[in-house]
Amino acid sequence: QFCVSRPTHQAEQYPVSKGTLTLDDRLYDYMLSASLREPDVLRRLREETSKLEWSVMQISPEQGQFMRLLVEMIGARRTIEVGTFTGYSSISVALGLPADGHVVACDVSEEWTAMARRYWAEAGVADKITLHLAPAVETLDSLIAAGEAGAYDFAFIDANAEGYMDYYERCLVLVRDGGVLAVDNVLWEGKVADPADTSESTEAIRAFNAMLHADERVSISMLPLADGLTLARKR
Ligand code: CA
Repeated sequence: QFCVSRPTHQAEQYPVSKGTLTLDDRLYDYMLSASLREPDVLRRLREETSKLEWSVMQISPEQGQFMRLLVEMIGARRTIEVGTFTGYSSISVALGLPADGHVVACDVSEEWTAMARRYWAEAGVADKITLHLAPAVETLDSLIAAGEAGAYDFAFIDANAEGYMDYYERCLVLVRDGGVLAVDNVLWEGKVADPADTSESTEAIRAFNAMLHADERVSISMLPLADGLTLARKR
């Protein structure tokens, strides 16, 4: 169905064997030094979060900057986030929204979101964010039941892998035509490409990626940014 062929470059014209650079530490540091514009409040949040056991769940600063740019590019005003953790992504997105913009933030952890709330206030975006401390499926279903289908411009899914299908289907209902979904961790630390890894979470990400690859309701691009970020634009 999907026939993928690599471009046949003439070696002397395009001396590349694959399209994406592998970033070693030196090049990654260069990329950040040459492009990162991280507000001080986000730097401090990142440092405080790095001390937590689950700090790996925080998005990288360049991903936060990309998502801010993305919501600016599509002129987003109303957005959804599934998986808030300590708030880095919600602040990044909120900073890219107009003054009357809004983020619906979904999470189940009182502890992590208490930290998020503290930094929302510090970043001056607390008024733009509403936290729903409940299973995200319940929150998303309640938004749909309240007639909010098509009322959102952007959704970010960054939560438990086993829930991705459920979150995606609901967010697809909630975003407008032309709205964008961004789905995080689609490369799953590379484990999706390891046939020996058949853990439940890895299989869930594989199944989700395969579903999205064939989903004609959206245009997609899987970006090798951080742990893999797929963008899907609702047709
Ligand atoms: Ca993530």
